[in-house]
Amino acid sequence: MRTDSKNGIYKRFAVMGGTFDPIHYGHLVTAEAVRDKFKLDKVLFMPTKNPPHKMHRPTSDVNHRYLMTVLATITNPYFEVSRLEIERSGMTYTVDTIRELRSIHGDDAEIYFITGADAILEILTWHNVDELLGMCRFVAATRPGFYGKDMEQKLTEIKSKYDKEIFSIEVPSLAISSTDIRDRILNNKTIRYLLPEAVEHYIRKSRLYLK
Ligand code: ATP
Ligand code: MG
Repeated sequence: MRTDSKNGIYKRFAVMGGTFDPIHYGHLVTAEAVRDKFKLDKVLFMPTKNPPHKMHRPTSDVNHRYLMTVLATITNPYFEVSRLEIERSGMTYTVDTIRELRSIHGDDAEIYFITGADAILEILTWHNVDELLGMCRFVAATRPGFYGKDMEQKLTEIKSKYDKEIFSIEVPSLAISSTDIRDRILNNKTIRYLLPEAVEHYIRKSRLYLK
């Protein structure tokens, strides 16, 4: 492990926000690829409390999602799970999270915000997007079926409108999604090798996603 992250203060780190309902290898491979590419001190996994854009489906209890994220990241010394959003009261917005991280880690910290390509496509609808783009570097991870003309156009649009570069990173073709994993469980299909074994054990033990 690098030793330049003293006292829990990081100068180059990424934030990977998500519902993680459940966390899977798509998230983990992406986080590790970004960590390696930008030589980061840490990747902070940030389970969201009640994401405004996911109101149509009730998410699992935040404690379950938090614990699954801890189990999934335990073997990687560069990965850490943050309770920042979970513990904030009221609606949670990414911009508030980044602002808070900046006040903890300092104005000189380089903060990367990792999103999947699908999430980048929604970025312009996010709360305080101007401020957000000014505060951190965005990394869009591409997964099969999401990178195409739409995506390219959107990145160009963001770049010209906000004069802000969005990095993109290709991750090995991981078409894994939490939605698919939940469907598989409901339909009694295997989820083995789509997510860490400990997370599968946790899901079975807590009887998650059965209805
Ligand atoms: P759901 O199917 O419930 O939407 P999800 O698999 O997309 O879940 P989220 O928790 O919504 O997972 O995702 C958190 C972040 O990880 C988002 O930025 C999303 O775009 C990204 N992401 C999700 N799956 C992958 C994947 N297979 N490869 C790369 N990035 C991913
Ligand atoms: Mg998603």
